[in-house]
Amino acid sequence: MGRLVGSAVSHWGEDPWARGSWSLIGRDGSPEDRVALGAPIGGRLRIAGEATHPTRAGMTHGAYEQGVLAAAWAADRKPDRVAVVGAGMAGLGAARSLTELGVDVVVWEARDRIGGRTAPAEIGGSGFDLGANWLQQYDDNVLARLAERLSLRTVPTDFHDPLILDGSGAGAADDAELIGAGLRDRLEAAPDGASMADVLEPWIEGLEEGAARAVRRSVDAEIVMDSGAPLSWLSARHGFEPGVGAGDRWIVGGYRLLTDHLAAGLDVRLGHPVRRIVVDADGVRLSGDAGSVRVDAVIVTVPLGVLAEDGITFEPPLPAPHRAALGRLGMGRVEKVVLRFGERFWPAHPAGYYRVHGPAVTCVSEWLDATEADGVPTLVGLFAGPWLDDLWTGDDEEIAARAAAVFTQAAGGSSDHDG
Ligand SMILES: Cc1cc2nc3c(=O)[nH]c(=O)nc-3n(C[C@H](O)[C@H](O)[C@H](O)COP(=O)(O)OP(=O)(O)OC[C@H]3O[C@@H](n4cnc5c(N)ncnc54)[C@H](O)[C@@H]3O)c2cc1C
Repeated sequence: MGRLVGSAVSHWGEDPWARGSWSLIGRDGSPEDRVALGAPIGGRLRIAGEATHPTRAGMTHGAYEQGVLAAAWAADRKPDRVAVVGAGMAGLGAARSLTELGVDVVVWEARDRIGGRTAPAEIGGSGFDLGANWLQQYDDNVLARLAERLSLRTVPTDFHDPLILDGSGAGAADDAELIGAGLRDRLEAAPDGASMADVLEPWIEGLEEGAARAVRRSVDAEIVMDSGAPLSWLSARHGFEPGVGAGDRWIVGGYRLLTDHLAAGLDVRLGHPVRRIVVDADGVRLSGDAGSVRVDAVIVTVPLGVLAEDGITFEPPLPAPHRAALGRLGMGRVEKVVLRFGERFWPAHPAGYYRVHGPAVTCVSEWLDATEADGVPTLVGLFAGPWLDDLWTGDDEEIAARAAAVFTQAAGGSSDHDG
């Protein structure tokens, strides 16, 4: 039971071109910081990407929408040539829109692939994602409409109905809806400047043991899994952003099917990290390891983590409101593993979705059963919380084996990789 025959593992926490998984609002921040970060800087520079979307941050379609918005802004300036930094969803959205508007565009991408945090992986000839997997808010998602036009196969997942695995095979789910509503009411009523921990810890400490455990599990599922950040850092009032659970479908074969389509015909320079952007009265100069280029305007779509850690030097420096926003927003860490097994050993669940709570509070993993769509026993796991420090060490095979053991033990089986 639990014979692992193939795997792939993400490393978002240490990825120099991501520096985390997705952007979040810290205790002193608000969605206004996202708006401030995306505000044009003079007439030649604009930051786009998921972090700049006030209501759809941390999602592919939010990133894409921000790229399209920035493209319209740039095209209005009647430039001859525009550069886009980054070939993730925002960068591809920007470059494609500019091309359609008749503007000459060049995309500089640091990695040797497109897609950014949609990160394709392949196991045994099947495509998976080590980053984004789902089309969220499906009914109101521009990329979902693109997936439909391309006749891509998508599979719905019900995040509200996971099977909780806790060693006995399958545990009953806590009354998640009731707890979730109580949780959200408390967070919405929190004062600005309060962290999630400020609000949640006193509440949980006042509950009797069973109720406290149920609330902690709900916090793991609703907040820790969706952020990958410490509760003491996250804004209580604004840190719980919309997205997951509002209509989710995953793309069979992976996001690559969308990104390849979006990038077709674009001038994308892979292996072109940008280190410096100089804006003057006549234009913009981008420079990096692969040389330099002069353009009339630039749209920068690199992740918030790259900007916050000065991965690119700006001359003149970014204005104070942008720098303040960078300081109040941050990146969390959620890691992913795709596991292919010789045989299916876990219980079937119609929602196709499982949760395993970790050994300590704020340690959680969620699992998608991709077996039916893939035709081979396959699980896609997401891990968040402090146990990443123990699980995500050593080489990828060791990490995959540890992740497999977590799931296998929780499902009530023994693993070939225990220990
Ligand atoms: C594990 C995980 C699971 C996720 N699951 C989902 C999901 O199911 N559904 C969903 O909607 N979203 C999900 N997301 C979030 C989603 O992937 C992102 O919000 C979205 O892809 C971000 O797009 P972007 O264009 O803003 O940034 P990115 O995709 O990060 O693109 C930025 C690009 O800039 C490049 N770059 C960085 N620095 C430089 C530089 N100096 N010079 C040149 N290029 C540079 C990067 O290599 C990258 O290609 C997930 C993310 C992760 C990590």
